[in-house]
Amino acid sequence: MTVPLDTALSYQCFLSDRVRAAKPSEVRKVFRAAQRPGMISFANGAPYLGGLPFDRLAEDAQRILQSRAAEAFQYGASDGVPELRAHIVDIMRLEGIEADAADAVVTAGSQQALDIAARITINPGDVVFAEGPSYAGGMAVFTSYEAEIVHVPSDADGLIPAELERLSAEVRAAGKTAKGLYTIPNFQNPGGVNLSVERRGEVGRICRDQGLLIFEDNPYGLLGFEGQTLPAIQPQFPDITFYFGSFSKMFAPGLRLGWVLPPAAFRGELVKASETAQLNPSVFTQLLMSAYLDDPAWRDTLDTYRALYREKYQTLVETLSAVMPAGTAWNAPTGGFYLWITLPEGLDAEQLVYECIERGAVYVPGTAFYTDGQGRNKMRMSFCLPTLEQIRQGAAIIGEVFREALAS
Ligand code: PMP
Repeated sequence: MTVPLDTALSYQCFLSDRVRAAKPSEVRKVFRAAQRPGMISFANGAPYLGGLPFDRLAEDAQRILQSRAAEAFQYGASDGVPELRAHIVDIMRLEGIEADAADAVVTAGSQQALDIAARITINPGDVVFAEGPSYAGGMAVFTSYEAEIVHVPSDADGLIPAELERLSAEVRAAGKTAKGLYTIPNFQNPGGVNLSVERRGEVGRICRDQGLLIFEDNPYGLLGFEGQTLPAIQPQFPDITFYFGSFSKMFAPGLRLGWVLPPAAFRGELVKASETAQLNPSVFTQLLMSAYLDDPAWRDTLDTYRALYREKYQTLVETLSAVMPAGTAWNAPTGGFYLWITLPEGLDAEQLVYECIERGAVYVPGTAFYTDGQGRNKMRMSFCLPTLEQIRQGAAIIGEVFREALAS
């Protein structure tokens, strides 16, 4: 094969079939717009960092560098440093998970944890069920290993178990292999809903009966507005559940730390996959995270966050009630970062986002959260990062654009 290196086409022939087959994402443009100076962004699921004790973190970092630099700046254990894993076990216990520090595997964020779990379980053509709508980045992991996502319809109590059962039978009848269910049971991204406690048991039983793995992705579990936590799915179904946790939303994403608690039988393969991906997670950031968690004050900081997010959520909803066209509906999240909005007939969130961007506010159109083209009249607004004033201004811009579109 002769490759004309100077043409745009040339690089295409080097790409894997897998990458070439991937659909281009319209939504990347939206996220690029969110970075523009002055833009009021409801697009990013980025936490507020203002409440973090950076002076203390600086002291912790200094102490680590003075006393443990040789360890902190060296390669480390591929599954993470023991002291951070001990903290991870304590955190998971808050949601009813009993594990040993030796069971968890630390990763570069839960995004990487999802990637290595998919790497060891997914074959091209496998079906993975996911809530409809679901986290675009999570679905992208599975589709990057050439899985097909099948959405399970959800309501105010999360994904509907009878629908999962029906779709699982349908997939089987079509001769396909269903490999697992990817679910975000708490303060779901983007739907904001919780999978009800009864449904957790039902969903788990269906997965066990149908031979499905459960990928339980839980970065928001500790972010209930009232500090409430729900029991994880993992304790009832430990043999089939990969549980994913993250420090990104409860602390900060900048250290890039998350973890996965796999079913025991999968741990060896998972650690090998993690080694292939990154050898080991950064020891320095793990020690810093661990030092932060050594002081129980981290829970008070989290309380501050939760109260702040509740206030931001309330401000957003109050403003939207005043500015959005009649017939707009939204869910009522009890925690997390996201408001999921359904627009009245005739409004297209994907088309209108560009006009909103022109006027200085951005959200994510609903189509980003489905792999099958659904969601044109839906949108996600993250309320965690903008200030209260920005929330009022940004929502007013969006409301104006939508009212004008409906009137025209
Ligand atoms: N899962 C969900 C549901 C998320 O919303 C995110 C971040 N937006 C992630 C996983 C990835 O988080 P991180 O890699 O920062 O832990």
